[in-house]
Amino acid sequence: MSFIEMKNISKRFGRHDSPAVDKMSLDISKGEIITLLGPSGCGKTTTLRMIAGFEQPTAGTIEIGGTKVFDEGESLPPEKRGIGMVFQDYALFPHMNILKNVMFGLTKWPTREKKNRAREVLELVGLEEYANRYPTELSGGQQQRIALARALAPKPHVVLMDEPFSNLDAGLREKMRFDVTNILRKANTTAIMVTHDQKDAFAVSNRVVVMNDGVIQQIDQPKEMYRCPKNCFVAQFVGKTNLLDGRMAEDQQSIHTHIGKVSLPEQWQERLETVKLSIRPEGCRLAEQGSGAYCGQVERVTYGGEYQELYVRLHNEPELSNEPMLLYAPVEQDVEVGHVVSFDIKPELVALVD
Ligand code: ATP
Repeated sequence: MSFIEMKNISKRFGRHDSPAVDKMSLDISKGEIITLLGPSGCGKTTTLRMIAGFEQPTAGTIEIGGTKVFDEGESLPPEKRGIGMVFQDYALFPHMNILKNVMFGLTKWPTREKKNRAREVLELVGLEEYANRYPTELSGGQQQRIALARALAPKPHVVLMDEPFSNLDAGLREKMRFDVTNILRKANTTAIMVTHDQKDAFAVSNRVVVMNDGVIQQIDQPKEMYRCPKNCFVAQFVGKTNLLDGRMAEDQQSIHTHIGKVSLPEQWQERLETVKLSIRPEGCRLAEQGSGAYCGQVERVTYGGEYQELYVRLHNEPELSNEPMLLYAPVEQDVEVGHVVSFDIKPELVALVD
């Protein structure tokens, strides 16, 4: 049963503008962590602001915890929606200590309960010893946890997080993805996060909603989304991929493409004549010299830290208009531009995209 229900939500800012959000429908279960993922301008923040009540939809309905918060122009104000917000810059009050910052959202609570609840959430985020410090005396990661504690303090129906990790450096960002997920799960809170970073989305969410031009492209669990992207946009936005046009072979088990025949995964159901394939770089495995099904010359090598990215131009390519194939090679492998490499493609990492 869904806890948050958005039906046919649209938002148009100017009368002649194309919609920032277009007929979006989304059901979220209680306790679920959902991420809206997409490029700049795709409508993520507008969606979050409509759920919070800071922005009014042009059409559609929104229900939170069984209450209609927006329906036919009738809108429940933000403070009555049971929403906790975590902003990109944390928005902590510099002149208040941590305890007071966390107590801020508990205005209607009796004073004693306010303090107890604030201490409870500070314990939940592991910062109970920092109650008397001021925000400037905390690290970025600690400020992030305080912002989350403040959002959780009034026991909201849902926590909304707008790019919560964007102010953190790479190492801290990874730790905070883990910490924030743990805290939300412990608090058993439903949460919606907005990000343009695939790693943030995959690390934190039960399900990811990929958006482009105000329209949902795919809703899926991270693994499914990565393995079976529904269209070219998702395939390219969520990780790197090779997109190939193809034609179904007579055996119905493989596809003719410009690099040669590519075998399909066993569970493949579609029987279309022309298809577009997405082949993840890690689905292309380097083989012993000459023993792989495909062979080509390395056009470019990019050192990626944990692996090397090889851009390989296939020998049997009829024309140069196609992109070279992207493969990952182990860092210890000695590969240079001009080398000839041979590789196989794992059918499990081949997906049909429209
Ligand atoms: P970003 O990642 O850059 O924050 P986003 O995906 O969150 O982008 P939105 O901020 O939701 O995108 O914007 C969606 C579209 O709506 C954009 O074309 C933006 O220019 C437009 N838009 C957003 N707010 C307003 C506004 N107040 N008035 C007019 N247009 C707006």
